[in-house]
Amino acid sequence: MTRTPPTCTRRIEFDAAHRVMQHESKCKNLHGHRYVIEATFAATGLDTLGRVIDFGIIKEVLGQWIDDNWDHATILFDKDEALGSSISSHTGQKIFYLNTNPTAENMADYLIHDICPALFDTHNVTCTRLRLYETPNCYAESSV
Ligand SMILES: [Zn+2]
Repeated sequence: MTRTPPTCTRRIEFDAAHRVMQHESKCKNLHGHRYVIEATFAATGLDTLGRVIDFGIIKEVLGQWIDDNWDHATILFDKDEALGSSISSHTGQKIFYLNTNPTAENMADYLIHDICPALFDTHNVTCTRLRLYETPNCYAESSV
């Protein structure tokens, strides 16, 4: 009987603002979240110490990308450029544009498909599942 190999998961938290364009209710307003990422990794085998990848490397690599791009940023749909320009001209803060509405689903999908493969290419691991919590009660999940 074959055994399913272990995976490992790291939590990374960050703060950001977003809004969902054309939302039927209050999420169309610019607002913030304490987002929580749970990124799960798999490898073809464990390293000589018995790890998929060191938890510290996940924090270093993915955590750095989050720090540079999403932490304390405003994350907007690129169709929302007028709002983004207005915010950055007043505050100088970074605006991160997605080519989709910045829902938890689209943000999780973007991280797992567009960001993680390049970040972890040299570490011989794959981010196979990514959860993005928008609140403690609500998360979206994307898998490869
Ligand atoms: Zn929200």
